[in-house]
Amino acid sequence: MNNTSPTPLDAIDSSVQSAAATAVFWAESGPSLRAALLRGLADALDAARDELVAIADRESALGPARLNGEVARTSFQLRGFAAEVEAGVPYARVDDAAIAGAPPQGRPHLVRMLEPLGVVAMFSASNFPFAFSVLGGDTAAALAAGCPVVVKAHPGHPQLSLAVWELAQRVLERQKLPAGLISLVPNADREGGSYLVRHPDVAAVAFTGSYQGGMALQKLAAERPRPIPFYGELGSINPVVALPAKLRTEGAALAATLAGSITLGCGQFCTSPGVIVLIDDPASDAFVAALAEAFKPMPTHAMLSPAIRQGFDNGAAKLAAHAAVKPVFAPAADGAGPAPRLFEVTAEAFIADAHLREEVFGPLALVVRAADVGEAVRVLEAVGGTLTVTLWGLEQDSDDARHLLRAARRVAGRVLFAGVPTGVAVTHAQQHGGPWPSSTQPQSTSVGYAAMQRFLRPVALQDAPRWALETENGQSH
Ligand code: NAP
Repeated sequence: MNNTSPTPLDAIDSSVQSAAATAVFWAESGPSLRAALLRGLADALDAARDELVAIADRESALGPARLNGEVARTSFQLRGFAAEVEAGVPYARVDDAAIAGAPPQGRPHLVRMLEPLGVVAMFSASNFPFAFSVLGGDTAAALAAGCPVVVKAHPGHPQLSLAVWELAQRVLERQKLPAGLISLVPNADREGGSYLVRHPDVAAVAFTGSYQGGMALQKLAAERPRPIPFYGELGSINPVVALPAKLRTEGAALAATLAGSITLGCGQFCTSPGVIVLIDDPASDAFVAALAEAFKPMPTHAMLSPAIRQGFDNGAAKLAAHAAVKPVFAPAADGAGPAPRLFEVTAEAFIADAHLREEVFGPLALVVRAADVGEAVRVLEAVGGTLTVTLWGLEQDSDDARHLLRAARRVAGRVLFAGVPTGVAVTHAQQHGGPWPSSTQPQSTSVGYAAMQRFLRPVALQDAPRWALETENGQSH
């Protein structure tokens, strides 16, 4: 299991089959069993944190501070989903009593309830070795919903994936639960990943990764004899719009904050701000100069993989060679990781060329200069779909503020009026998923407690006998 040769397809079959064998049991399990598992996994992760962080740091270069924080987030969300289960969220029902008489007023007794989808294939993210990997948000949401999970480990952190999966197996064993509830496909290559998506016993896919990978796998999910939902979180350019009045009073501080967000984790966040939209004004000029200055001392570390580094270098080189793009800050030399880059382009050129709207994953941003708010609105419309839009300077109600907000709501899953988009809180109101190309299913979220709904399907029982409405405790609703 520890070698790097690809997992044969029959090993994938056996992982999916052992998951499928648990599906009915887990779908019918009650809140106490599910919550105990989620809490047991959280406790085990916390207890093994030092050892796991050391492995993760060797494989990802993300550093102990960030990785310790990520473990805390991962166990927090496992416990959060346990509380959701105990609150009855996956067992929610809508009960319409029968009304005698002819329709439309007269009606049968209808109870709408939620049915777990079945086995979820989960593609781990490269950039969140804990929070979006073996026991990350997708796994927690699926288990809470009543679905077993088959994890496709990310090749960027194979040892960590195996260690976390082994830890999960020990928890399952201690709780006398079937091992197949959390299965692992450790060394799948692209053929193996594709095979998993096409597997007849897989009922849904959760994916966090690149636009190209997500689109290829979504196509496979749609072309199956029985198509299945594909929940893909893909790339995003996360525009930040900053109005001159805000920059006149807070420009220096905001430049430092933004430089920190662009370079955080070497820019390897799906919420990293990639486009800064400014209105022509001396305050905007001063802000760009301050941003370039703030980049100078920013430390970066090695990127997650040679392929991701190559992608960054290619993206930066394409921008540097673009006739309409002006360099604002280019480092003298890179260190272990790439130093940050800042480029500038007019709104007109940005709107005209779709290539300028492609994500460059890493510490890089493109300043887009708009003549006025109307042009800034057209820039947002050209972006089309993004996980976030940040709007600085909209404290007061005005026509301009309303135009910007309307455009931001149309293209983004989350709109911020303060702060920076990196850092995605795990809450009930969170929305991490925006219109295409940032997500394949923008009506759902992959972060926060609403993420569980991706793996549940409504079923209405009509005129059901009493026994069919009883829960596992023999109670009827
Ligand atoms: P990736 O290359 O898409 O890989 C993700 C997973 O999908 C890996 O397990 C990969 O396996 C598999 N895969 C990719 N293409 C495939 C294909 N055609 N057929 C079958 N399997 C395939 O993503 P990454 O390694 O994380 O690269 C970084 C990129 O992901 C960045 O562009 C970034 O924007 C994006 N990303 C987005 C988010 C988000 O939440 N929106 C989060 C993290 C990363 P192999 O490695 O074996 O190909």
